[in-house]
Amino acid sequence: MLTIPFIANAQHPPVFEGMATDTSYIVAGDLNINLIKYSHGDPEIHFLTIHDNEDTGVKAAFQFINVNGGSIVDCQYGGVRNYKFIYNEQTYQLDPNSIYTKRGIKLGLEKYGPSSEEVILEMEKAGKTIMNHYNPAMHGYIFTLHNNGDGGFGIRSYLKGYELESAADSVHINFEMDPDDMVLVTELDLFNRLKKANVNVVLQSKDAPDDGSLSIYAMQNKIPYLNVEVQHGHLDENLNLINICAGMVSELYPPPLKKAEN
Ligand SMILES: [Zn+2]
Repeated sequence: MLTIPFIANAQHPPVFEGMATDTSYIVAGDLNINLIKYSHGDPEIHFLTIHDNEDTGVKAAFQFINVNGGSIVDCQYGGVRNYKFIYNEQTYQLDPNSIYTKRGIKLGLEKYGPSSEEVILEMEKAGKTIMNHYNPAMHGYIFTLHNNGDGGFGIRSYLKGYELESAADSVHINFEMDPDDMVLVTELDLFNRLKKANVNVVLQSKDAPDDGSLSIYAMQNKIPYLNVEVQHGHLDENLNLINICAGMVSELYPPPLKKAEN
């Protein structure tokens, strides 16, 4: 019988020569979450992917890192979206993008089933472990990569009368772009630059509801945040948006050494 080794990792692009990895681990009940940091060259731009079923962003980031240097923390837990695990004989499930505030964790668990104090604490720890491994304090920003389906969530979700209206302060749409390809930011200066570049962009509202997502955590902790989000498979569009944003991030949030030289 043919056996295919490492099938669990098959979704990830091959690691190219000169790439280094550094892994942290989270154990939640019977679920193992590997936080693999891939880095190459002299990393200046640092990416983070928190949904393990969103791989176009990882592929685009690898291409960017191969050319420019950089790093990405990729959360790997079986190629699915949600964390699902058994803890004390009870099954729990939540979206990993709801673990960054205590309120969000509770809401996130209750969306799929039971919640408990112990599991809330475990998820709080998981969020902290991810942040420690990514280390936004060192970079001066959080740069996440997400992928979405065709037609569902997109830039139009933030328009008046749509489900995420209250999460947006301002929206700029380039009607030539696919509405599923967009950037979400928490900083006005980054929003203005992306608007000028005629990119689909949302400025998160200061009053955006606390759903435990990383963008809310970033806002609460005054860390500039950006999320480049494109439709699954839009690799070229993804790389293009990453390139545009990386240039702006380098200018707005230069690494500490460069700051010292200026
Ligand atoms: Zn995502």
